[in-house]
Amino acid sequence: MYGVLTDDRELAYADVGDQPHFFVEAVDGTRREPLEGAVNAVACWGDTEAIRADPALAAVAADGTRATPAARGQHWGTVCPSADDYREALLERIERVGSVGDVRLTTVGFPGASFCHCERCTRAFAESSFDDRETWRTDLITDFVASAADRVAGDLLVTLYPDPYPGHLRERTGIEPAALEPHVDGFVVPLCGVGYGTTYWVESLAHGFASELEAIAVPLTIQLSAADVDAERLAELTRQLESKADADGVVYGTHPDDADTVRETIRRLSVDESTLTA
Ligand SMILES: [Zn+2]
Repeated sequence: MYGVLTDDRELAYADVGDQPHFFVEAVDGTRREPLEGAVNAVACWGDTEAIRADPALAAVAADGTRATPAARGQHWGTVCPSADDYREALLERIERVGSVGDVRLTTVGFPGASFCHCERCTRAFAESSFDDRETWRTDLITDFVASAADRVAGDLLVTLYPDPYPGHLRERTGIEPAALEPHVDGFVVPLCGVGYGTTYWVESLAHGFASELEAIAVPLTIQLSAADVDAERLAELTRQLESKADADGVVYGTHPDDADTVRETIRRLSVDESTLTA
């Protein structure tokens, strides 16, 4: 499966590859109407606009740092996953998007290992049956994804932070891939770099995920960037990911200016396939 990931409606409908991924809700708070037939991507707790409108919604680190775009290591605002009203409204938006087609969730979970120590989370953890804060966080995120899956008729994909080292995802975000297996239809891992002057890190990380997810029966899609790269380099990188990391699909982050590169990349890969099956 090959496709583009874009926020451009025209490009999403341009039939580049098998199925487009379309940004419906972005981390800056932009919201668009979902596209029929696309995998519609919804930013979950990444929502700079929500934090700007209501600063009390921000996730808070153990040292008091708030998850805003200005904080070190944060590139956008992140809402606390315990904020019930935001969570409920988010699930309603996911349900609405899911009534149109498949849904991909991005920015699922906490924005770092030291989050969240806001009053909401401190109270919720104290009142929970968990002794261990990391286990409580993981339960909160698993429960959210299960609730989202209940509301989406089509496939539900979850984007994973690109760190396959055992335990790191759980520690960083609260995502436990094995716990999500009953609820999701795919994982997507973004491995984006401009031009791919080097590719060893893409292969290493993809291979790491293939090993880490080996026992989990959930298809893996790798997201690459089509910016400033030529089609043969992108096609060769895709071949490597398919053969060495067993990727089930590759989706290319594409601006309208890069559409021809992606079209040519997919053409080259299709030639490979027809040669193999001839
Ligand atoms: Zn919190």
